[in-house]
Amino acid sequence: MTGQAIRKIVIVGGGTAGWMAAAPLAQRLGKACEIVLVESPDIGTIGVGESTLPTILTYNAALGIDVTDFVKKTQATFKLGIEFKDWGQVGNRFFHGFSDFGPTIDNRSPHLYWLRLAQSFKNMPAIENWSVSAVMARQMKFAPPAPGAPGVANGYTYGFQFDAGLYAAYLRDYAMARGAQRIEGTIVEVEQHSETGFITAVKLKDGRRLDGDLFIDCSGFRGLLIEGTLKAGYEDWSDYLLCNSALAVPCAKVPQMTPYTRASAQSAGWVWRIPLQHRTGNGHVYSDRFTTDDEAARVLLEGLDGRALDQPRQLRFVSGRRRKTWVKNVVALGLAAGFVEPLESTSIGLIETAVFRLLQLFPDRSFQPELAEEFNRYMGTRYESVRDFIILHYKVTQRDDSEFWRYCANMPIPDSLSHQIALFRETGHVAVYDRDGFAGPSFVAMLLGLGIVPQRYDPLVDLMDMRQLHGHFAGLRDAIADTVQRMPEHAAFIAERVAAAPVPGLAV
Ligand SMILES: Cc1cc2nc3c(=O)[nH]c(=O)nc-3n(C[C@H](O)[C@H](O)[C@H](O)COP(=O)(O)OP(=O)(O)OC[C@H]3O[C@@H](n4cnc5c(N)ncnc54)[C@H](O)[C@@H]3O)c2cc1C
Repeated sequence: MTGQAIRKIVIVGGGTAGWMAAAPLAQRLGKACEIVLVESPDIGTIGVGESTLPTILTYNAALGIDVTDFVKKTQATFKLGIEFKDWGQVGNRFFHGFSDFGPTIDNRSPHLYWLRLAQSFKNMPAIENWSVSAVMARQMKFAPPAPGAPGVANGYTYGFQFDAGLYAAYLRDYAMARGAQRIEGTIVEVEQHSETGFITAVKLKDGRRLDGDLFIDCSGFRGLLIEGTLKAGYEDWSDYLLCNSALAVPCAKVPQMTPYTRASAQSAGWVWRIPLQHRTGNGHVYSDRFTTDDEAARVLLEGLDGRALDQPRQLRFVSGRRRKTWVKNVVALGLAAGFVEPLESTSIGLIETAVFRLLQLFPDRSFQPELAEEFNRYMGTRYESVRDFIILHYKVTQRDDSEFWRYCANMPIPDSLSHQIALFRETGHVAVYDRDGFAGPSFVAMLLGLGIVPQRYDPLVDLMDMRQLHGHFAGLRDAIADTVQRMPEHAAFIAERVAAAPVPGLAV
């Protein structure tokens, strides 16, 4: 014990990031220190962010959240991955699923063996036929993986698609039940220690003053403390990630709730479709250098599956990250820390990572600078690996039907990504820089899906007898088909097991 323990944490912001921080902090520290979250009644939350990664299962499990209760209260559906439509070239369709392509063979990735078969047989089916989640998605099936079951019944994972407002409310109830306090007010002034520059308090419009030892900045894009006061600086990635605008609109739900998010490429960006139990979320992410807001709204509204439930809401952003997200006694999370456009639904995952990393490296009031350095190093790697993965989606394209896609095909990219693409093109291998980020099968799904055909395959693969190899892939495909065929439809699984209460006025 140092006698220097943090006595009070102030969380600035009550959006998804604020409550995602408050919940685990209250669970772990609620009895040891005061946790206060302040949110402004005048400044709204971003109101989007409804598609997640499987890492949310770990976050929920750490909080002891019951899946059924969670799904019911957030109007959630299950997500097996993302269907990509018209990426790489118009007419192309493939699935980036949350599963690998079967077990390793002789300790080597199965896609290396698939590549040998694909080079030998012209009609080799696409690799996603060996992804359990892709096969489930195509057949609109869902069942959770069976823990302990052998083989394919356990060879996938999933995330959720949920209502962002209900998600924040769910975590708010959780955090407040464990001692977190909520204050409504707008911060108009920030006090700093005259010598150290550490933040000592924030002042609200109504004159109240909130002091604290540790401040968590979840104030959204503005980064009230981390940028407004501490001037951390922003690394702008918009030369590689051109999209800087979005229009979001909900529409009435359709009877077939897909167990996946859809991302359809457009001439100056892409459109998302996220099915929830009570409605469908839609949005058009685009670059205002290459299209107009009116044209983007037209593309969005014409593509809706159901009746629009509102007017499209405009959002602007700049992909990039704060140079440092922990400065002095301020740690920034969520949009205050950075934002890589939402193509692979990574923001909530980065909030999970950051809040757990903060708990691992939790400071006392001496705020040893090495803790901040380690946090910044680690989060920097995480953001950069997400950046590279998203740029890949744009860079690897044969589309030349618009100025936007011609720019993407020719734009310079980070060296780390150039290496990744060249390595795969020449050898079929992938480089995983960030062990906590997207794994090898995600790169394989995207690189092959976008149309790269490796020139060679791994020479050690030839050590396996061709007939044996055939038998392995044929047997696995049959096992996947058999397992998936016995699963319930996604919509039926929800209706029977986890249906939320109907929302008046939101009929089909
Ligand atoms: C178009 C788009 C689509 C997205 N889709 C996804 C997705 O599918 N999946 C995903 O993981 N992420 C997605 N995201 C990102 C996701 O929305 C955010 O990461 C998440 O909602 C966290 O937002 P936040 O809490 O950081 O900020 P906000 O929601 O903006 O909250 C900011 C909070 O700070 C408060 N505040 C601000 N200033 C003050 C002040 N002066 N005083 C007091 N309080 C203040 C506000 O009142 C508010 O409560 C998307 C983002 C965009 C732009």
